[in-house]
Amino acid sequence: MSELQNLDKAYVANTYARFPVEIVRGKGSKVYDTEGKEYIDMGSGIGVTAFGIADEEWKSAVIAQLDKVQHTSNLYYTEPCARLAELLCGKTGLKKVFFGNSGAEANECAIKVARKYAAEKKGAEYSTIVTLQNSFHGRTLTTLAATGQELFHKLFQPLTPGFVHTPANDLAAMEEIVAAHKVAGILIECVQGEGGVIALDADFVKGVAAICAREDIVFMVDEVQTGNGRTGELYAYMHFGVQPDVVSTAKGLGGGLPIGACLMGEKVESVLGAGDHGSTYGGNPIAAAGACNVVARIDEALLASVREKSAYVFEKMQHAKGVKSVSGKGLMIGIETEKPAAEVVKACMARGVLCLTAKTKVRLLPALNIPMEDLEKAVKTILDVCAE
Ligand SMILES: *Cc1c(COP(=O)(O)O)cnc(C)c1O
Repeated sequence: MSELQNLDKAYVANTYARFPVEIVRGKGSKVYDTEGKEYIDMGSGIGVTAFGIADEEWKSAVIAQLDKVQHTSNLYYTEPCARLAELLCGKTGLKKVFFGNSGAEANECAIKVARKYAAEKKGAEYSTIVTLQNSFHGRTLTTLAATGQELFHKLFQPLTPGFVHTPANDLAAMEEIVAAHKVAGILIECVQGEGGVIALDADFVKGVAAICAREDIVFMVDEVQTGNGRTGELYAYMHFGVQPDVVSTAKGLGGGLPIGACLMGEKVESVLGAGDHGSTYGGNPIAAAGACNVVARIDEALLASVREKSAYVFEKMQHAKGVKSVSGKGLMIGIETEKPAAEVVKACMARGVLCLTAKTKVRLLPALNIPMEDLEKAVKTILDVCAE
């Protein structure tokens, strides 16, 4: 093991099972390790580097802001934060944005908004948040409570109370839960990411939206992974013709800098007042300047190319030897392989392709602008490995 890997093992908390690879630099959808070995990056830092590594336009936006001011606190106005909020609202029809630094923080804000809305409108006992089994919403104690996977809950009890989980794609079960609890909000991922890249049924998403409208429940969509062009629409809810009251997002939003956002629609836009919520780094000018560049570039042409590349991957991989099934939307793709996913990832890495896993699947989240040539090469390598 290299000196750096020993150092990391000795001093960095052991929360990550790292691969024995040190990435030192990259460009676009290619990254390089200490030996100069080239990899095609099919994970983009778990869906973060939306336009690849060291993208020139994104870099210019970030560096220009770095030369002006890197941080001011939220006591003062700064331009990137206001421009980013305007961009996000303009493209979604939502009305107000709270900025934090991560997906979990975006979801924390969403949950606070739902609880305060319900407390003021119906009474403090209307505090239950409904989420789906097999969901993933983050690692803080409250977003862990929201996460519908027991595996993550063990040994961290007691979690924040007031969360119930119901099966995905079962509207009758959702109706029962809503009838049995005093519900403030329902939070869903339109495509469950960590849960195995599983898109929800359109009827279910529409049905949940209808229940929320009927019962005056806050309808929240977690777009941390699915957002910002990832699924071939700006936000995944846009595939389903629904309008959420709250959208949380992060990952790809910053293009590689930490930022999270909680977007609030008309119903809840006035819920948060001064002092109700905050975050020292929230709306940080550098992260926001990078995010402005990312969001401005997610136009119809880019989304169409994401859908085309997605169709290419599905066509090549579905029914290929060693592949059981392909799931997901856009460039958020899960592959059920005959070999264990971890084995496929390891073999691909040896051949210069970096992939992710989600549950028992191989997961692909390449940069939205991955060159076709890199995508073709990566798909070929993955299929070679699956077929052997
Ligand atoms: C990654 C993820 C989160 C957590 O985001 P962090 O930035 O790691 O806090 C929450 N929800 C979903 C759907 C995610 O994929």
